[in-house]
Amino acid sequence: MTYQELYQSGELLQRIREAFRRLKACDLCPHDCGVNRIRGERGICNAGLLPRIAAASVHTGEEPPISGSKGSGTIFLSGCSLSCRFCQNFPISQLGNGQDLSTRVLAEKMLRLQSQQVHNINFVTPTHYLPQLLAALWLAIPLGFKLPLVWNSSGYEKRDALQLLDGVVNIYLPDMKYADDEVAQQLSRAPGYRDINRTAVAEMLRQVGHLQLDDHGLATKGVIIRHLVLPGELSGTRETLGWIASNLGRQTHISLMRQYFPAHRAPDTPGISRKITNGEYDRAEGWLEEFGLENGWVQD
Ligand code: SF4
Repeated sequence: MTYQELYQSGELLQRIREAFRRLKACDLCPHDCGVNRIRGERGICNAGLLPRIAAASVHTGEEPPISGSKGSGTIFLSGCSLSCRFCQNFPISQLGNGQDLSTRVLAEKMLRLQSQQVHNINFVTPTHYLPQLLAALWLAIPLGFKLPLVWNSSGYEKRDALQLLDGVVNIYLPDMKYADDEVAQQLSRAPGYRDINRTAVAEMLRQVGHLQLDDHGLATKGVIIRHLVLPGELSGTRETLGWIASNLGRQTHISLMRQYFPAHRAPDTPGISRKITNGEYDRAEGWLEEFGLENGWVQD
C-alpha cells in the first residue's frame, strides 16, 4: 500500500479521524498524558492542537541516501516527548521555539519543498504531531504531492500509534538512545525506554523492511537506525548493537554518531559533561565489526 492508495480508498481519512480522536485524552506516545489537546491542554511534549514548526528547509547534512545531491526537505517540529539533558536542539524541542501553523499551510510548505526538487520530506521529531502531519499529507496529495516521507524520530513511540503510519511512511530514521532504563530516565525522562524503543523499531522494520536504494543511491524505503555514542558507554552501545544484530538482522543500516558535545544541561550533569574520546568511538566501531553490522555510516 502507498499513501496515494490509502488516500484513494478512504483509509487515510479514517486514520486521520482515529489519530485526532486520540488527542482528546492524548495517548499518542508512551507518556500517556491523557490531556485534551483539542481543548488546548498540553502534556509533557508541550504540543497543542496546531502543529508548531521551527523550520522547513532544504537540508544536506543527513545520511547520504536521505540527503542525496539535492537535499532533504526537512520540517522541524517544535516540542518533544523526551527531555534530553544534552539536547542540541533544546530551543526547539524544550523551549518551544517555532510558529503554530494550520495543516493547510503545512501542506503548502511540503509542496514548496517538493518544487525545490528535494528527494523527500523529512519530519524531524514528529511523534506528538502524528494526526496533524497525516492531515497535512491528506491536503497535499490532491495538489500533486508525491515525495517519499521520512519519519525522523526519537524512537520513543507506541506500536499502535506507529500502525497509523503503515503504508504512509517510506523511510524510518529512529534513534536507539539507551539500553538501560535508569539512564534513560535520568538523562531523558523516558520511563521504560529500552523495551518501548525496541518494540517501536521492530514495528518500523515490519512495515518497511531493510533499507532499499534506487539507481542513484537514494533511499526509497526502509529503516536507518541512529545511535549517538555517549561518554562512558551511557548509551549502552554494545548492548544495543548486539540486540540489533540478533533481533533485526545484521543487514540493518546503522548510523553511528560521534558528534556528542555537552549541550543544554549536560555541562552540569555528571557523566555527560564532556565530549566522547576517540577511544570510545573506536570501541563502538569495533562492536559494529564484532556483531557483523556492515551496513551504514560511521563518522571520521
Ligand atoms: S504526545 Fe505529548 S501530550 Fe500526548 S501523550 Fe505524548 S507527551 Fe503527552
